[in-house]
Amino acid sequence: MNQREEALAFDAADPLAPLRDQFALAPNVIYLDGNSLGVPPAAAAQRAQTVIGAEWGEGLIRSWNTAGWFSLPRRLGNKLATLIGAAHNEVVVTDTISVNLFKLLSAALRMQDKRDPKRRVIVSERSNFPSDLYIAQGLIKLLDRGYALRLIDDPSELPAALTDDVAVAMITHVNYRTGYMHDMAAVTKLIHDRGALALWDLAHSAGAVPVDLNGVGADCAVGCTYKYLNGGPGSPAFAWVPHRHQGDFEQPLSGWWGHRAPFAMDPTYAADDGIGRFLCGTQPMVSMALVECGLDVFLQTDMQAIRKKSLALTDLFIELVETRCKEFPLELVTPRAHAQRGSHASFEHPHGYEVMQALIARGVIGDYREPHVLRFGLTPLYTRYVDVWDAVEHLRHVLAHETWRAPEFAARGAVT
Ligand SMILES: *Cc1c(COP(=O)(O)O)cnc(C)c1O
Repeated sequence: MNQREEALAFDAADPLAPLRDQFALAPNVIYLDGNSLGVPPAAAAQRAQTVIGAEWGEGLIRSWNTAGWFSLPRRLGNKLATLIGAAHNEVVVTDTISVNLFKLLSAALRMQDKRDPKRRVIVSERSNFPSDLYIAQGLIKLLDRGYALRLIDDPSELPAALTDDVAVAMITHVNYRTGYMHDMAAVTKLIHDRGALALWDLAHSAGAVPVDLNGVGADCAVGCTYKYLNGGPGSPAFAWVPHRHQGDFEQPLSGWWGHRAPFAMDPTYAADDGIGRFLCGTQPMVSMALVECGLDVFLQTDMQAIRKKSLALTDLFIELVETRCKEFPLELVTPRAHAQRGSHASFEHPHGYEVMQALIARGVIGDYREPHVLRFGLTPLYTRYVDVWDAVEHLRHVLAHETWRAPEFAARGAVT
């Protein structure tokens, strides 16, 4: 593509274009960070007002029943299920990814311990999101039973790492930094062939790429709602456990919301029979209620249509950066092959941090990840082809005029 008009023509022909109106988008901003924090659905402000005014203000404590608060984690789980190939009553929206990983990893290790106690290794990737690794490290320490974390440095090392002492492989489907996407079906099969369980992290997959958890026969999964699903800052995450494992998965955060009869106030814990056992305590209803607004937009389309546009947007972004910014030291770190790419594109630049701050100052919001990585999320529900064109023109301007050299762009905030 070498003219802005071509991008406008793509937008005019885009079947997903009308869904953009269902988001409250900031004026004069090109937002390419929906992979980190999605934008507000237009319905969210009204929903928040209803929750605070009618449900909390007027309904008060009655709203746990009358406004469906108590059942909300399950109800939202059932809406989310359709996006990830899960069945009814296999998903709950609750807690954070980190906390849900702790629950599922514990449950999976425990199940393996009963089957084959020599399996004491958790396999993951060194490039995984650090919190996932920290949770595994903390759990290993807590259990104090000789468990170990084995990290691979490249996906090609996975077959060799899956020896007969591996209990669980904890793999993030789409890498948060590079955008590399695993072949979930092939990797799950390999993990199973080696007698291990497959725990998937869908943080950069849910709402970004088609996922078929039951189709591939995965064992359990976690993911979040505040990235591609547009649930809002800190909105609760989700946990998926298929029906075949629910009865055998015992998780240690045995709080009252996971009890089979929370209001029986029984002094002894008895886990819910189904997906409810993966709940722990009282959930943040104001935040959780807003998750539904994002899911309701997804339910008006399907993941195949979203994937098609996502690939077209990422292809275009990569093509434009490589042609229009070719004289600058930008190096693509995201795989070119569609089958290995999620919904973001990352480039390394020796001054990546400063370049990103200069771009943000011009209204193009992406983010920066160590080391040197400029990360751009392409979210098909509200990103236009012309946004991609314009963003690359801003990038070209920042690099050509070296505006990133201004001292204010070197200052670092707490969140990058
Ligand atoms: C974003 C992300 C998280 C975030 O975890 P929280 O506990 O919800 O803050 C975890 N893992 C991966 C792979 C992520 O991309």
